[in-house]
Amino acid sequence: MRAPPQTVTELRSALRRGEITSVAATQAMLDRIVALDNELKSYLTITDELALEQAAAADRRRAQGEDGALLGVPIAVKDIICVAGAPTTAGSKILDGFIPPYDAFVVQKLKEVGAVILGKTNTDEFAMGSSTENSAYFITRNPWDLEHVPGGSSGGSAAAVAAELAYGALGTDTGGSVRQPASFCGVVGLRPTYGRISRWGVVAFASSLDQVGTFGRTVADATALFQAIAGYDRRDSTSLNVPVPDYAAALTGDIRGLRVGVPAEYFVSGIEPEVETAVRAAIAKLEELGAEIHPITLPHTRYALPVYYLIAPAEASANLGRYDGVRYGPRVEGADMIDTVKKTRALFGPEVKRRIMLGTYALSAGYYDAYYGRALKVRTLIKQDFLNAFAQVDVIACPTSPTTAFKVGERADDPISMYLADIFTLSVNLSASCGLSVPCGFDSKGLPIGLQLIGNALQEATILNAAYAYEQATGWHQEKPRIGRG
Ligand code: GLN
Repeated sequence: MRAPPQTVTELRSALRRGEITSVAATQAMLDRIVALDNELKSYLTITDELALEQAAAADRRRAQGEDGALLGVPIAVKDIICVAGAPTTAGSKILDGFIPPYDAFVVQKLKEVGAVILGKTNTDEFAMGSSTENSAYFITRNPWDLEHVPGGSSGGSAAAVAAELAYGALGTDTGGSVRQPASFCGVVGLRPTYGRISRWGVVAFASSLDQVGTFGRTVADATALFQAIAGYDRRDSTSLNVPVPDYAAALTGDIRGLRVGVPAEYFVSGIEPEVETAVRAAIAKLEELGAEIHPITLPHTRYALPVYYLIAPAEASANLGRYDGVRYGPRVEGADMIDTVKKTRALFGPEVKRRIMLGTYALSAGYYDAYYGRALKVRTLIKQDFLNAFAQVDVIACPTSPTTAFKVGERADDPISMYLADIFTLSVNLSASCGLSVPCGFDSKGLPIGLQLIGNALQEATILNAAYAYEQATGWHQEKPRIGRG
């Protein structure tokens, strides 16, 4: 018997040649979810009926001669993105039972190209976290070692893709939530430029930082998903009305002459030696492939964490004001209106409450200028660092995260150590650059390590091609996690 297709690219060829139908491929994924997801816990909701209907529709479209990169391909969607008729919880009890009557822009786009939606994946509550332990429902496990976290907040999507419970997935990345779990789970995760994709229908966390991103087991797969969802939409005034290039065509694998910057500030104490070794070896590989390596400096790097943890909670505190027991989800009746709002808002989990308090404080009269206002100014300095760097280089290469996946529970009670998991990813969001994580090896425990490649605004094609060249020359993506292999 022929092995089932492993990637979006392989599935597409098999569908095209008539070796498999989308209904069969979808059923195989659903069976695998039933067999493995009790342990892994990557999905919050499985939309099996919807998936099989979409698969049958995709097979009919194919029979009529249609062919597209995602036609009939089963994928997963982070549960912070609205899919009409399916629960959308954002990992929170405060949205328990909320069923959006509409599709997010990105889901509309996926449906247009005939992708099949298997279900909604687990996330830290309102995407606040780096381990998926802040989900109000359950913790997702890392498919390489179930004792370890998958990263977060899009940990469900990363784990599902790594464990082959979906061919690809959507996540969101406000400070690292696509790249960091991609790194922890050994898959590719792309965080596109702010505004590259309309966020209409995506539950808001921090509106000046949020963006949808894609996961794939290969660079080509993450690119195929990105191609399908990129674009402007008048319902999101921050989305950019610029043409969407042919990203797949940009994957030539030729990086001769590419200028790669290596920031001194990203190789400092606190980074695990095995991570540093793997990332430096990856950079040497890029050089071997014809890239030029340049030392660069991003001098304001050490302010990224405090700046992010002022701006993101401030914006979150404003965005989360809408959950009052009237407009969405459950309501806990109290003695009067204020009491009802108080009791309902007690449904937020501890991390969300912490952020609302921090954010409200940073925005309050008398503190606004000292905290939020200053954070915005330092954010401009961070952005300027990146603009200066991109005057000299095309791509910045560094680790995605200072460590590999930590153990479940290890950082759960220590918010600062949890925040440090995103130390290398936050600046991409603050500077409105784009970034991705591509597998670049394993530590001695067998846990994946990710190489982060950062590009200037709208230069996704450049970083995707650099990652593609690296992937083709190394083959880390062919390694498989233990789960489901006896
Ligand atoms: N871990 C970071 C946070 O907790 C980033 C989360 C994200 O990108 N959604 O805010």
